[in-house]
Amino acid sequence: MSAQSDSLQSDALSQAQAQYEQFRARSLNLNIQRGQPADADFDLSNDLIAALGREDTTFDNIDLRNYPGGVQGLPSARALFAEYLDVKAENVVVWNNSSLELQGLVLSFALLHGMRSSTGGWVRLLDGQKPKMIVTLPGYDRHFLLLETLGFELITVDMQPDGPDVDAIARYAGRDASVKGVLFVPTYSNPGGETISLEKAQRLAGIKAAAPDFTIFADDAYRAHHLTEEGRHEPVNFVALCRDAGFPDRAFVFASTSKVTFAGAGLGFVASSEDNVKWLSKYLNAQSIGPNKLEQARHVKFLRGYPGGLEGLMREHARLIQPKFQVTQDVLAETLGTDGEYATWTTPRGGYFISLDTAAPVADRVVALAAQAGVSLTPAGATYPGGKDPGNRNIRIAPTRPPLAEVEEAMRVLAVCVRLATEEYRAA
Ligand code: PLP
Repeated sequence: MSAQSDSLQSDALSQAQAQYEQFRARSLNLNIQRGQPADADFDLSNDLIAALGREDTTFDNIDLRNYPGGVQGLPSARALFAEYLDVKAENVVVWNNSSLELQGLVLSFALLHGMRSSTGGWVRLLDGQKPKMIVTLPGYDRHFLLLETLGFELITVDMQPDGPDVDAIARYAGRDASVKGVLFVPTYSNPGGETISLEKAQRLAGIKAAAPDFTIFADDAYRAHHLTEEGRHEPVNFVALCRDAGFPDRAFVFASTSKVTFAGAGLGFVASSEDNVKWLSKYLNAQSIGPNKLEQARHVKFLRGYPGGLEGLMREHARLIQPKFQVTQDVLAETLGTDGEYATWTTPRGGYFISLDTAAPVADRVVALAAQAGVSLTPAGATYPGGKDPGNRNIRIAPTRPPLAEVEEAMRVLAVCVRLATEEYRAA
């Protein structure tokens, strides 16, 4: 390195250090760690709490206070979320408060009993081999935790701007019958905000897998979570695509109201073929007389009554959330430039997250520096299985929870931490 570039570099380092120290001196306490709605988002749904009155003891001619009603959910709740998922009510099971729990239930039933086209439970099939599940990188830490806890071996493929690397999925699934499926977020993915294109989704639906029971687990948590009207991504319909591809039982599509009404205090639901709904109902029925019908009725009454319905509510969320994504993009571009010298990041059109990759392998140092300056970030590595990012580059940004001014402040700190960690690395 020439003496001139050496001194430029040490200038950049001392400048970053000085900026960082200014932030540190302010004893900030900011958190852009978890993908949670803001209080202002929750406030949009406060009428949900009192949506049922004392007189609402029955709904759909079913007594909400008693057991009968079945495991598939209230008819009007199935109809509402069928519209949301672009399927028929017969294709939907509405369960309790968590779509992750439903994913765990479907996967557990597959492990114990197998899918409709399986010859036995996935856990027993494989002569001591673990069943394998494909996931996308970077991805959602709770998917990894769920699958690893259930005993799956994870196979990783890249999440690309137009969805998972379907060629890689086809290669893995095509040669190994112990590869039982793929779990990913099809719309506005966590953490990068990517949406699978129709063309890729069609290819995935028709993939030639060695396992006859290869299954697509689509966690469509952000299906309606557009940031703007223009340039919004169209969610795909895996239930219809798999049916059209000649594999009617291949897809399970999960979603919930956690980022629509109240997080963890709403409804999780799943769509699949009518035969798979029967398959799932049989096992659900063995462990529960039915889901909480009061919550289902309350959501139906509130969401049907909201001006513009569920879509109208999502537009109100967008109005609150879009500026937070915008300020994140603006501060990153302003502080780090857009030439990739320090980092690159995604520009999602919806969802809850932005994925940032540092140019140097310094993600853990960035997170540590930010913590010392009072800004909590998602731990480095969380977007990789086992919490280990081999490149040490990926950081998930979750801008939805804090008020706008705090998002801006936190992003200024994060961007300076990226500069400082990078300059430290280059100077070492
Ligand atoms: N799936 C994805 C992709 C998520 O990002 C989240 C929450 O952050 C969830 C599922 C959690 O959903 P639920 O509250 O319905 O269990």
